[in-house]
Amino acid sequence: MRKNIIAGNWKMNKTFDEASELSRLIARDYADCTSVDIVLCPSFTSIKAVSDIVSETQIQIGAQNFSHEDDGAFTGEISYTMLKDLFVKYVILGHSERREFFGETDDLINKKLIKALDKNLKPIVCVGESLNERENGVTKDIIKNQIDSCLLNIPSEKFSEIIIAYEPVWAIGTGKTATAEQAQDVHSFIRQRINDQFGSDAANIVRIQYGGSMKASNAKELLTQPDIDGGLIGGASLDAQSFGEIVKIAIG
Ligand code: PEP
Repeated sequence: MRKNIIAGNWKMNKTFDEASELSRLIARDYADCTSVDIVLCPSFTSIKAVSDIVSETQIQIGAQNFSHEDDGAFTGEISYTMLKDLFVKYVILGHSERREFFGETDDLINKKLIKALDKNLKPIVCVGESLNERENGVTKDIIKNQIDSCLLNIPSEKFSEIIIAYEPVWAIGTGKTATAEQAQDVHSFIRQRINDQFGSDAANIVRIQYGGSMKASNAKELLTQPDIDGGLIGGASLDAQSFGEIVKIAIG
């Protein structure tokens, strides 16, 4: 039985004070939640504040990105030591916005994934097709390539630490959600691909989140699909009540 993981990707939103307030509200209601893994991913400038606020709770902190380099002359980058210093446990890798606006490739994501696993950060690896790709009927080719390239050379026993986020790009921030059937179809394809490449233990244990306009009104049908193990939430994670409603649904 895989535990649901609900992660809030706050993206480039929330000032220090706003992030503190949001995390205080979430911690007030879900501090002791153990039946679902709750992860908050603030911007780098708010990680310390949010980390302090949730430090005595079950809520964990994630970063939205990090460098595959250890340290040194990499202006503007953030290393794993900096994150671990602030008790960050998860890191989002290869979000479609990073692929689209900052040129991140599968190869770079693979390097970051290897570094994250080596340094005991749990990676949330994002994959997903564009609208054009879905309309051209190549969704599964795209997903297969992303999975194979991003997960290259990852040992099978690491899959208990890895989270895959299936995020159809056309559903992110658009209000359009994949139907539960569309999402389940791709999730089960991803699990099958991991089964073929890394074996059944890896496939059974890896958690696969759905992301793309998940909200309280569609969370139940998505989260009750057999291969959907949680959600990566953007817009709806910026409000404590909306995020809390999704967590409540994931708790069941
Ligand atoms: C995301 O950015 O990971 C995301 C899923 O965003 P939204 O929920 O706003 O579509």
